[in-house]
Amino acid sequence: MTNPRKLILGTAVALGFGLGAAAPGQAADPIVIGGGSTTGVYYQVALHVCNLVNKYDGKKYNCVGRPALGSVFNINAVNRGLLDFGVAQSDRNSQAWNGEGSWKGKPVKNLRSVFSAHPETVLLVARADSGIKSVADLKGKRVNIGNPGSGQRGNAEDVIRLYNLKGAFTAQGLQQGQASRALIDKKIAAFFYTVGNPSAAIEEPANSTAISIISINSPAIKKFVASKPYYVMTTIPANTYKGVSKPVETYAVKATVVTSSTVSADKVYDVVKAVFEHLDELKKAHKAFAILEPKDMLQGLTAPLHDGAKKYYKEKGWIK
Ligand code: GLU
Repeated sequence: MTNPRKLILGTAVALGFGLGAAAPGQAADPIVIGGGSTTGVYYQVALHVCNLVNKYDGKKYNCVGRPALGSVFNINAVNRGLLDFGVAQSDRNSQAWNGEGSWKGKPVKNLRSVFSAHPETVLLVARADSGIKSVADLKGKRVNIGNPGSGQRGNAEDVIRLYNLKGAFTAQGLQQGQASRALIDKKIAAFFYTVGNPSAAIEEPANSTAISIISINSPAIKKFVASKPYYVMTTIPANTYKGVSKPVETYAVKATVVTSSTVSADKVYDVVKAVFEHLDELKKAHKAFAILEPKDMLQGLTAPLHDGAKKYYKEKGWIK
């Protein structure tokens, strides 16, 4: 039987994703990190964490950061051993661990946290010519709510429920790369996306057509946000994206890196060490990473820390 993990790695190699610096013939241990769409920020996390692992530990590991379908997919793939690490929203991390949402009654017992990365905002991006000025204006429109497996889909569903818009518009389930394209091509009027800023998935439409980003800040939303430990209200600064010249209020989660208890403590320790010993390099790799600080990167995690991560954080004196 084909080993699905090998298949993923094989596919990643066939697609031309770079392997590490291990000498030819040397049996370096493979690591696969699952991200999101190529225009999102998760893929950047996966790529740049792997760059650090390959640069500083390339004799030991071949780390491949690959595009994947997002939070829910990554948690399930980590759980099934198809990925060593995955990037996932803090709300999904909590739900998977506690057996809620997509994992209702089926907690992912072997889910382990590694660290938090950048904050992600729940975005509703619309074509400026769609006439959409508030969430309620989605009525009757064609709107992408995210592919199954993405983290944003659950956020879109919450927003739709809290604004009483269930069934009021045509929902699409495109992956984000296609959704950004569909917005430019007028095939959809708006999309939901939960992502770090700035993201190429918003820059692409912002740079080729007029867009607006819609506030998600009704009293029902604020109450909902206040009721969950993993949500905070936030503001996207003016001019983060071309043509969006006013600040936009919405809510945010954190991107977290997760793994499974079945991944060895050595491997997790080595990955964590590569990241934190070279955090300055990671911070420079993408604008969304510029604010990363160790003390924040240990916050927002619900699933217990993996033993390998715990060992490194204890050595640093960051945890007891
Ligand atoms: N938050 C999105 C998800 O969970 C992915 C965002 C990204 O790829 O940066 O699916």
